[in-house]
Amino acid sequence: MTYIGRFAPSPSGPLHFGSLIAALGSYFQAKSLQGKWLVRIEDLDPPREVAGAADLILRTLEAYHLHWDGEVVYQSQRHSVYQAQLDFWLNSGQAYYCQCTRKQVKAMGGYYNGTCREKMIETSDNCAIRLRMTHPVECFNDKKHGQFRVPSDLAKEDFIVKRRDGLFAYNLAVVVDDIDQGVTEIVRGADLIEPTGRQISLYHILNHPPVHYVHLPLALDKLGQKLSKQNHAPAIDINQPKPILIDAMQFLGFELNKEIKQSSVSEIIDWGIANWTIDQLPDVITEGS
Ligand code: GLU
Repeated sequence: MTYIGRFAPSPSGPLHFGSLIAALGSYFQAKSLQGKWLVRIEDLDPPREVAGAADLILRTLEAYHLHWDGEVVYQSQRHSVYQAQLDFWLNSGQAYYCQCTRKQVKAMGGYYNGTCREKMIETSDNCAIRLRMTHPVECFNDKKHGQFRVPSDLAKEDFIVKRRDGLFAYNLAVVVDDIDQGVTEIVRGADLIEPTGRQISLYHILNHPPVHYVHLPLALDKLGQKLSKQNHAPAIDINQPKPILIDAMQFLGFELNKEIKQSSVSEIIDWGIANWTIDQLPDVITEGS
């Protein structure tokens, strides 16, 4: 079976050091296994998007010699696929409309207790859609972190698959897309290890064998915060990729000698493919540059 990996950035800003780590880790893992590496733009949340960010991300990947296979997929063009899945679940009773507010869920103890499950609410007005949790996942294996436990209440919750504001939930879109694109392994930042249990539940509910997971150590800023667009992580340089590429590869556990550091970006990337192994990843969450 061909390995298919992917990088799935949200266009809420340009690529930063943390997203470069996810791009490189997923690329090296795919290419070292003679696999394919896909790119999917997760433009699911228009209010959080920045005009031009998707194109800039793609140009930045090219500048770092991270060339993807096939066509780029945009989640904004897949609404009908997500809605068809929701309609199927609503019709079969697997999903239901829910009027509960965040405040009400908080009052339930933080986890949704199924209040609207039997209410048979007919209208979608001001309602979220929740999925009946028939396959809770309380533990899964991550190739880097080993057995990862999910709190039982979280695993059993009927979680939201479409939000009250009409946006499709990330967990739904990401699993539907990864299945449709034939992805066999997901390599991404450790910030996404928490929702992984729910995503595996979705694979079961969708009758599809779950994929493998590798969650990469997170790059933190000097304050110990995750590098993210919300925390205003600086954009990586598109014109001079080499210094940041070398920093990012060292973060991923590569030991680059002087000769490699003096090579071209494409030679460094090829060297990375030839020398990559998951075992080299640092154990602890390390401070990024
Ligand atoms: N779009 C998500 C992000 O940029 C990543 C989704 C994923 O890799 O599953 O944080």
